[in-house]
Amino acid sequence: MPIKLPFRQRGRDLPADLWTKCPDCGEMLYNKQLEKNLRVCPKCSHHFRLRVDARLAQLLDEGTFEERDAGLESLDPLGFVDQKPYPERLAAARASTGIRDAAIWGLGAIGGHRVAICVMDFAFMGGSMGSVVGEKVTRAAEVARADRLPLIVVSSSGGARMQEGTLALMQLAKTCAALGRLADAGVPYVSVLADPTTGGVFASFAALGDVNLAEPKALIGFAGARVSAGTIAETLPEGFQTAEFVFEHGFVDRIVPRAELRDALIELLLFLGPRPTPRPTFAENGTGNGILSRPLAALLDPLAGQEARRG
Ligand SMILES: [Zn+2]
Repeated sequence: MPIKLPFRQRGRDLPADLWTKCPDCGEMLYNKQLEKNLRVCPKCSHHFRLRVDARLAQLLDEGTFEERDAGLESLDPLGFVDQKPYPERLAAARASTGIRDAAIWGLGAIGGHRVAICVMDFAFMGGSMGSVVGEKVTRAAEVARADRLPLIVVSSSGGARMQEGTLALMQLAKTCAALGRLADAGVPYVSVLADPTTGGVFASFAALGDVNLAEPKALIGFAGARVSAGTIAETLPEGFQTAEFVFEHGFVDRIVPRAELRDALIELLLFLGPRPTPRPTFAENGTGNGILSRPLAALLDPLAGQEARRG
């Protein structure tokens, strides 16, 4: 469809990337203004997709991000070829996006709270989850657990990456297991579902937050609407698979407009804060003795304290 500019195009020197048409309200938006407005349409508040760097800049305190595992790259274990060989697709995606795979993770701070954060980028092969995305989410969860840092994952994905077959599907179980251990350790995990969060990503880590936040009108669901309708042989309800619909049905806890997301996370981090390291249970420790630090042991048993002083 030809894009109508709001003024007469003068000559050929008008850069093509100066304006973006809002797909919801049709308004022509000046790109610089759109970026300033966190890529939200000022007229109808349509949320455009955010690239990973813009998302990190929006959420994190300036200059606090330290990327981890930046060098992870997908291999081509299946020798997969559709219209193009998988390595060619990866190379093209790397060239067009400037990132190595569909997720970036690292450590940073939000409102002074240290966090582990993983952000997905839909621009890289539809944000599909292969072994690199799964590994990054898993490592983020493992470091979050070891360092007792709250974990934040911002998802935007079409699902598992078919070019990696079973290895991509395996990431569902792997990420869920890592998040299970994180939950056992009492370290909070906040999942942010951005447009779109679908397929294997929704069916694994994106839906497992202690708190699940979603951006307005984001597409959220497992199978696409056509497949879902075909499977149950019924007409789908109005608004099926929008953030608002899944919120009404209890799959997400809150819908947060992008401009309020950072403050919402700060509020949650204050509220959830990591609990102190759980004390090993009697069963884990065998006797229940010897695990307490000396000052606490002395507090509980004054004689132990005296012996320590004598010894
Ligand atoms: Zn709009």
